[in-house]
This record gives sequence, structure tokens and C-alpha cells, in this order.
Amino acid sequence: MSGQGYADLINGAYVIAAILFISGLVLLRSPATARNGNRLAALAMLVAIVVTLLDRAIISFETIAAGMVVGALIGAVTARRVQMTAMPQMVAVFNGFGGGASALVAAGEFVRLTDGGGIKEDVSVTIMLSTAIGALTLTGSFIAAGKLQGWVSQNPILFPLRNVVSGLLGVAVVALGAYLVVEPEAGIAFGALVVLALVLGVLLVTPIGGADMPVVVALFNSYSGLAAAAAGFAISNNILIIAGSLVGASGLILTRIMTRAMNRSLANVMFGGFGASGAVVAADATERPYRSVQAEDAATMLAYAGTAIFVPGYGLAVAQAQHELRSLGDLLQERGVDVKYAVHPVAGRMPGHMNVLLAEANVPYDQLYDLEINREFDRTDVVVVIGANDVVNPAARDQVGSPIYGMPILDVDRAGSVIVLKRSMASGFAGIDNDLFYLERTSMLFGDAKRSLGELVSEVEALED
Ligand code: NDP
Repeated sequence: MSGQGYADLINGAYVIAAILFISGLVLLRSPATARNGNRLAALAMLVAIVVTLLDRAIISFETIAAGMVVGALIGAVTARRVQMTAMPQMVAVFNGFGGGASALVAAGEFVRLTDGGGIKEDVSVTIMLSTAIGALTLTGSFIAAGKLQGWVSQNPILFPLRNVVSGLLGVAVVALGAYLVVEPEAGIAFGALVVLALVLGVLLVTPIGGADMPVVVALFNSYSGLAAAAAGFAISNNILIIAGSLVGASGLILTRIMTRAMNRSLANVMFGGFGASGAVVAADATERPYRSVQAEDAATMLAYAGTAIFVPGYGLAVAQAQHELRSLGDLLQERGVDVKYAVHPVAGRMPGHMNVLLAEANVPYDQLYDLEINREFDRTDVVVVIGANDVVNPAARDQVGSPIYGMPILDVDRAGSVIVLKRSMASGFAGIDNDLFYLERTSMLFGDAKRSLGELVSEVEALED
């Protein structure tokens, strides 16, 4: 085959991979099609890797096959074994490796081209971008994973002038990059750029509280895409440019959705020192009266309701109570109760956290609602809040000055009765008290959510006998 014909074939395969990537992303928009979306994207990645390795003829067929088998095995075992609650740190580690890989590709190209006697300026700009962004993504993502796993302090590590120091480091990285575009022979400057970018990644993440890490992970996801796209320009690889841009854009959109749903700016997340584990604003220390309920009475309320809405939150993930929740929902439906599930966009600790858990328990998608369900609460008999707190806190709607004021919430306090399943009166992620728990219409069912839901199932079943 002629050289041009071969190049066309390779680019044709890249176009197919790009179409598969984009179709995968489109399918990821709904939980019902998300699994197929994932499969398509994985297939696209396979096509991209195989075509690139064959095209560049860097290594032999045998090595490619061996690498793919080993890589697929590690990926499959890790993905199967990782706990749902540890998913954010796995994503963070993958992002870190993605950033690191792009930085290495760019650095390799830099060395190859400088040894070969010349780099065009447009190429060296993309090399510097890929190296710097990739390096800070590597360390930043690993610190984020460490915080999520509890290996690095979850509290914001704050020191005076930290934002100034980070700013100066950022300026130094940009200045070194610009210098290297003009003077590509300055190998020491390139080393300094790498080291400073690695340090910058650490300094950007350590001042952020552990619970804000999912937003940081989404942002670094975007950075890893940008680093890959820049590396794609540096080595003239079209699929790397396309895939990197897709990751960069979708990571940024996800970050925006998350900060919006928390009513926080990205600057507040990155530089605000918010999200320390434990209380940010001390909960009201004075004892306030609240009503507690036993599973038996709660089950009776539910069994004789006309409509019931379940509102899951972070506690559902901690308790891993999704299967018990589904059983209760099914049982009530068999009794003729109209059952719905209300999912807040930032319930839990990662985007889609509740959707993933409910999908794992095969909760029918047509019973899932997001904030649109707010229209229905005032005509709902019973709402069951399962380990949710901030996302149902009326202070976000009513109390100007509250740290969460302005965050959209699920208006469960407008329902006829509310049953809250949690272990204590403790606050949630934002560290603030929740007036919902003290309302006349609210009953607290204390205990681990899995146990409480199991009891509710037994009690409703007992009623049937
Ligand atoms: P919250 O963190 O506000 O509250 C969770 C509640 O679950 C706690 O009050 C806790 O109470 C209870 N709980 C914990 N373990 C159990 C258990 N085993 N059984 C029963 N209850 C339990 O969660 P929400 O989902 O309401 O809100 C999410 C928060 O996280 C929001 O503030 C959001 O901004 C933030 N966030 C979300 C992100 C996302 O992407 N989803 C990312 C970053 C932050 P108790 O200890 O008394 O049991």
C-alpha cells in the first residue's frame, strides 16, 4: 500500500474511534444506556490503542498483545474489587496516571526533538503545556486520592500566603515554559519546569478539605484531558487530540454542574479552605426537641400511605443499603403505594453516586426523579430520607447567611410526614444543623440505614400477614 493510502487507513480508523467515543458519551447521559456507553467508549479506546501502536510500529505484535492482556486483567480485577465508596479515589488515580503519561510523552518528544537538532515553536508550546499540566495533574490527583482514602489529612492544610506561593509557582512554570520555547536547549530549565509543576499540583490540593475532593477530581479529570490533547498536538496524533479534548470539555462541564449544585464557585472550592472533615460551622449546641419513631410505627405510616418518596443521601452509600431500599420500595408498591425516588445532583460524595447505587439494586429508571420532583412534595403523604442531610436542609432555601444558602434542595419539609433514617442528630458534610429534623411532621428513625430499612421491610411484611 502507498504511504498516503496507509495514512488514510490509519486516519479512517481514528475517525471510527472518535465516532465511538462521542456515541459513548451520548449514551452516558442516561442511566438506562450508560453501561452501553461505557462499552462503546472502551471499544473506541481499544481501536485507538491498537491503531496507534501498529501505525507507529514502536513495539512488536507480541509485546502489544502481552501488554493488552496484562493491562486488561489489572483493569478488570481492580474495577471489580474496588468498593463503590472508593470509586472517586480510583478515578483520581486514573486521572493522575493519565496526566503523568501525557507529561512523559511530551517530555520524550522534547528530548527526541532537541537531540535531533530543532523544535518548531508551535510544537514546543504544546510540549510545555502537556508537560506542565500533566505533571501537576499527576501529583494533584494522587494527593486527592490520598485525602479520599484517608492517607493524607482530610482537613485543609492551610499556611499563610499559600495562595500567593501557589500563584508565584504558577507564574514561574509559565515563565520557564516561555523561556524553553525560545531556548529549547536549556535542559535544566525543563527539569525545573517539571519539578515546579509537580510541587504546584501538591500545593493546589492540600489546602482543600477532603470532602471537596470529588470536585477537585472532576477538575483534574479535565486537566488530564487537556494534557493529552496538548500531547496529541506535540506528536501529531489526531485521536489523542480528539479524545483529550472530549475529556477536557466533559471534565470541565462536570465540575461546573457540581459547583452549581452546591451553589459554590470553583474559586471557593479551590481556594476557600472549605470542607474540613467535621463541623465547619458548629451545630447548635442547645438541645432542641425532636420526635423519634420505632420501625414498627414507621412501617405502618408507610404501608397505609397513598404516595411515598424515598430520598437517598451519603448515608445510603455508607450503609450500602440500596438493596434493602429497593425491597422496601417493591413491597410498598405491591401494597398499592405510589413509590418514587428523588435524587439530588450532589447527594453522596461523587456525581451520580445515588444513581449508581440505585442502578446496582435495579431500581426502575422511570421511578427516579431529580429536582423536578419538588413540585410533588406538598401532595406526598410520606417522605423517607435515607442518610441524606444537607440536600434536604431547608436552611439552603430559607436562611440567608447559611453556608449552604442558595444550594437547590429537595423540599421534603413540604410533605405530609417525613421519616429520617440516620444514626444520630449529627450534621452532614456542610457541618450545620438541619431544622427539618425538629419539625412536627418529622420522625427520626435512628440506626444504621441498612438495619433500619431491613426492619421496615420485616415490619411491612408482618403487616401483610
Ligand atoms: P450529608 O453528608 O449531608 O449527610 C449524610 C448523613 O448520612 C449524615 O448526616 C449521617 O448522619 C448519615 N449517615 C452516615 N452514615 C450512615 C449510616 N450508616 N446509616 C444511616 N445514616 C448515615 O449527605 P447528603 O447526601 O445529604 O449531601 C451531600 C453533601 O456532600 C452535600 O453537602 C454536597 O454539597 C457534598 N458533596 C457532594 C459531592 C457530590 O459529588 N455528590 C461532592 C462533594 C461534596 P449520622 O452520622 O447521624 O448517621
